[in-house]
Amino acid sequence: MLTDRIAVITGGSRGIGREIAMTLAAKGAVVIVNYNGSAEKAEAVVKEIQAAGGKGEAVQCNVSDFEKAAELMEYVVKKYGRIDILVNNAGITRDGLVMKMSEEDFDAVIATNLKGAFNCIRHVARQMVKQRAGRIISISSVSGVLGNVGQANYSASKAGLIGLTKTVAREMASRGVTVNAVAPGFIDTEMTQVLSDKVKESVMEQIPMKRFGATKDIANTVAFLASDDAGYITGQVICVDGGMAM
Ligand code: NAP
Repeated sequence: MLTDRIAVITGGSRGIGREIAMTLAAKGAVVIVNYNGSAEKAEAVVKEIQAAGGKGEAVQCNVSDFEKAAELMEYVVKKYGRIDILVNNAGITRDGLVMKMSEEDFDAVIATNLKGAFNCIRHVARQMVKQRAGRIISISSVSGVLGNVGQANYSASKAGLIGLTKTVAREMASRGVTVNAVAPGFIDTEMTQVLSDKVKESVMEQIPMKRFGATKDIANTVAFLASDDAGYITGQVICVDGGMAM
């Protein structure tokens, strides 16, 4: 159980982040459902959490903004006194072959997926060290482990998250803070629903288990890493991908 643990989930309004928020709340955590633009969806997640007897609130913040990320963490610490769990889930795609990729599309993906995670970690690290306890879990991707045609920006951001995870894990290991990454394969969310049937078919060929994953598959892994049972696991990348990256 995660009773009364304070958990910040970035990008908790939709998809995988939404499922992580619901799952941690069901285990007793107080969940801060961060979102960027989807206020109504984030409020709906909180309503669903509360209807099930859980606790949480929605807080807007563009995590790619260093100062705004600081304000988000300061707000949570001021209100709840601590932050036990940070899940860096916020992410975007701007796919295209590298020879056609614009500078803007490269920068936008790095800014949200990689710098956004750095910003949140940067502003939570001191608090967790002070607490001598904490869990940081970042959602990477199989694309960051294997690379993926059309995703130079996204793969770079997700591989960067793995380096960030391992370094912060080393820096914080002796302070009771564990830092891990989860690398999902292809999960059925709005992010993958936009893919063409042709792309989906070619992806399916690369999945040994021959099916896309569900958001619950990722949320359950995050819940485990956030729990006391995972206290001796740090600096790891857990692939939840139907065998893609084995
Ligand atoms: P999604 O359905 O597109 O949801 C993305 C979430 O990120 C939304 O809640 C969105 O909030 C939030 N977000 C985007 N930019 C943000 C920003 N600048 N600041 C704060 N929040 C921001 O995506 P998903 O499929 O659930 O993916 C979630 C994570 O898993 C991402 O990091 C993604 O790269 C990773 N992942 C997904 C898959 C997959 O197959 N779906 C596979 C591997 C890894 P708003 O709605 O408010 O914009």
